[in-house]
Amino acid sequence: MLTDTKLFINGAWRPASDGARNEVHDPATGEVSGHHAVATREDMLEAVSAAERAFPLWRDTPAMERAAIMKRAAALLRERAAEVAAILTLEMGKPIAEAETELRSSADILDWFAEEARRVYGRVIPPRSPDVMQLALKQPVGPVAAFTPWNFPVSQLVRKVGPALAAGCTVVAKPPEDAPASPAAIAEVLSEAGLPAGVLNLLYGNPPDISNFLIPHPAIRKVSFTGSVPVGKQLASLAGRHMKRITMELGGHSPVLVFDDADIEDAARSIAAFKFRNAGQVCISPTRILVQRGIYDRFVRQLRKEVDKIVTGPGIDPATVMGPLVSQRRIEAVGTLIDEAVSEGATLLTGGERMDHSGFFYRPTLLENVPVKARILNEEPFGPVALLAQFDTIEEAVTEANRLAYGLAAYAYTTSIRISQILQNQVETGMLAINHTALGLPELPLGGVKDSGFGSEGGSEAVETYLFTKLVTQKS
Ligand code: NAD
Repeated sequence: MLTDTKLFINGAWRPASDGARNEVHDPATGEVSGHHAVATREDMLEAVSAAERAFPLWRDTPAMERAAIMKRAAALLRERAAEVAAILTLEMGKPIAEAETELRSSADILDWFAEEARRVYGRVIPPRSPDVMQLALKQPVGPVAAFTPWNFPVSQLVRKVGPALAAGCTVVAKPPEDAPASPAAIAEVLSEAGLPAGVLNLLYGNPPDISNFLIPHPAIRKVSFTGSVPVGKQLASLAGRHMKRITMELGGHSPVLVFDDADIEDAARSIAAFKFRNAGQVCISPTRILVQRGIYDRFVRQLRKEVDKIVTGPGIDPATVMGPLVSQRRIEAVGTLIDEAVSEGATLLTGGERMDHSGFFYRPTLLENVPVKARILNEEPFGPVALLAQFDTIEEAVTEANRLAYGLAAYAYTTSIRISQILQNQVETGMLAINHTALGLPELPLGGVKDSGFGSEGGSEAVETYLFTKLVTQKS
């Protein structure tokens, strides 16, 4: 099966105006699995014009109707979950069960935001005189440019499109070129569910060409990006120059603080499962695992036991627990960070090499004694590797947790309320999970602080970022 992903502009699928296409690769084999269209400037202009024309219509569509379309789309997505999951695994590599979970959770996210569409409330502000009425209205910001990554190609798109549509905004999105066909299913189900032409448009092509065109375009009123910190900073500064609102969901280097009083087996099991999900290509993946000295050896033994159980193989095989990395680019980046750390003195506990396979497979890896200056302890590895270290006091653990410029997610394992409260107050993070890893549910805020960005991609906070406040004051 070869996929052929076209552009979705003004409600219709079509090739690029000059017919240009790029290849897509199956990470499990390295072979070509399909193509995607490469948008020209003319295509980009048509997509923005379509979003601009559709905006007044969608803004004025009653919230109940917007919600009904989104709910129908969620139901269609659930019906097609198995079919789209197979495409997702083919182009991105994750195990088929994880792909199906992503499809089902994307339908849940659409449903959640459909319901939130009906709960966009403003305020009535008490006036100073009885003949005055003062209203703070919440109105959609306008057409949005959305850039989404390949690690969750479907759900990352839904996390932007869902709240934007709920708020009454139209969207020009650029889903990832590494995994273009599975997010295209979102445009299909929304269109079949009755989304008017032009409300959602999808462009693929050369990412800088598309962002350099869309962000400065006067019709675009907001920019939302999920991806790496360096690209996020470039796009945020371009948006700043053109006074565009932004949501930035960037990288992380999540610390996990495991205290002496924790349930060691439970902590090791849940950290191993969460770390190696999606081959570690997750912005909230636990990476720096800091363990209190008294339990360090026991915890590491337990963690290794869990990691050694992970079956790595092609995502399409139901026995696979961890699939390949997405691309040659990523396997080289992760491999280099690990090799550098080992050559600088880190101890390799397990993994540390590619697998003997034609695709982009890398063994689940644990490192300890990593020198603090090693790049892997400072830059997001975004791959199947965890870094173990010991601490004595809570102050030491919090200092290490806060050492980096990242501040997306943090985790802790402790049964002490006192320790939990200190962490709540002192860890610089957008999300803190204690004794489990259940982040990312549609109803929970999702976002970071510091270099990890700002704005939220979950909960009612996500809809807020697509609204502005208009004050109306009227005297009778
Ligand atoms: P990358 O920074 O080149 O690309 C990340 C994403 O940004 C891709 O989807 C890409 O298409 C897009 N992108 C890149 N340049 C762009 C531009 N100028 N305009 C618009 N979009 C652009 O990195 P990569 O090698 O694909 O992925 C690795 C890094 O990306 C990781 O280290 C991680 O930090 C980050 N990442 C983060 C997330 C997340 O969920 N926060 C997801 C995927 C990747």
